Amino acid sequence: MLRYTEGKMASAEIFRLALQRMTDLGCSFTPIHYAVIYEDVSGVNPGLSESLDDLTKSGHPLKDSEIEKLFLSFIAPEYVLPLNDHSDSLTKEIQNVLESLSRSTKLTKHEVERVKTGMESYGATLRKNHLDDQELKAIVDRILRDTVSLRDSSASLSNDLTESQKKIDVLQKELRTTRAEALIDPLTELLNRRGLKAKIDELLVQGRHSGEEMTILMLDIDHFKGINDTHGHMVGDKAIMAVSKILKMNVRRMDMAARVGGEEFALLLPGLFADEGFQTAEKIRKAVEKAEIMNVTKHQKIGVMTISIGIDSGPFDARWEQMMEKADKALYVSKKEGRNRTTVFRE
Ligand code: GH3
Ligand code: MG
Ligand code: MG
Repeated sequence: MLRYTEGKMASAEIFRLALQRMTDLGCSFTPIHYAVIYEDVSGVNPGLSESLDDLTKSGHPLKDSEIEKLFLSFIAPEYVLPLNDHSDSLTKEIQNVLESLSRSTKLTKHEVERVKTGMESYGATLRKNHLDDQELKAIVDRILRDTVSLRDSSASLSNDLTESQKKIDVLQKELRTTRAEALIDPLTELLNRRGLKAKIDELLVQGRHSGEEMTILMLDIDHFKGINDTHGHMVGDKAIMAVSKILKMNVRRMDMAARVGGEEFALLLPGLFADEGFQTAEKIRKAVEKAEIMNVTKHQKIGVMTISIGIDSGPFDARWEQMMEKADKALYVSKKEGRNRTTVFRE
C-alpha cells in the first residue's frame, strides 16, 4: 500500500500546501476534505485533480457534498461516510486544529504536537468503528505520518532557528561592544572625538537642547611632554586619568566630557552661557592645580600640574564644531599668555 512515496520534507511541505489550499478554497477542515486536497496537491491522483479543477473553476466555495463525492469516486469507493461527521467532537477538535494551523505560516512545535495528538485519537476511533476499511486506514496512517514528519521538520527547523538566534545574540553583543569601544576612550572612559560627535548628532536628531545656549570648553594639560619625559609614560597616563576624574566630578548629567587628543579634553555644557561656563572652567582649572599625582616608583609627587582652557558659547545647533574651533583658538591664547588660565573667545 505504498501510495505515497514523498520524502519526509516533501510530505511536510505538501501538508503545508494542502492546508493553504483548503483555506483558499473555503473547505471545511475535516480529514476527508484534507485527504482530497492532499491527493490534489501531491499530484498522485490526476483524475481527482481534473475533477477538482472543474469544480473550482467558477470560484465559488466547494460544497461539502462535492468534496465527499470526490473522496468516494477517487480515493475510497468502499468507504461509508459517517452520518454525523460534523457533530463528532473529535472531528471538531481536529477541524479547529487544522484551521488554526492553516492560519499560521510558522508552525510551532506545540501546534504540530496538537495535530498529531488529535489525528492519533481520531485514527484510533476510526479503526475501532471501521476495522476492515483498508483504504481509510491508509489515509489515516498517512495523515499521521505527515504530521510526524511535519513535526520533525518543524522541530529541526526550530532547533536551527535557536542555534542561529544564539549566534546572532553573540554577534550583536560583540557588535555593541565594538561600537561602544569605538566611541569611548579606554584610558579615561570618557567619550572620544568620534563618540562626542555621535552623541551630539543624536541630540540634534532628537531636537534636545536645540536653540539653547551652550558653552564649549577646550582643555589641554600644560607642558605635558615634561611630565612624560621626567616621570615616564605611565605617570603621564596617570596624570591624564586624574584630569578626567576632575572633569567627571565637575560636570552635570547632561554635560558631555570627551578626551579629544592625547592630553586634550572637550567639555560641552548645554544651557550655560559663557560666564557660567567660565565658572565651571575655573573650578576645574583650580582643582587640577591642587591635584597631587604620585610617581609611585620614585615615591614622590610629580609637582604642580596645570591646564589651560579656551571657551566659546552660542546656540546649540549643527555649528557646534565651529564653536569648538573657536574655543581651541581661545585655548591657544591661554597658552600664549602664560598657561594655567581660562580665555573666552573674542573675534
Ligand atoms: P603645551 O603646554 O603647549 O600643551 O605643552 P605640551 O608639552 O603639553 O605639548 P603638547 O600638547 O604638544 O604635548 C602632548 C604630548 O602628549 C605629546 C605626546 O607624547 C603626549 N601624549 C599623547 N598621548 C598620550 C598618552 O596617551 N599618554 C601619555 N603618557 N602621553 C601622551
Ligand atoms: Mg599640552
Ligand atoms: Mg596638546
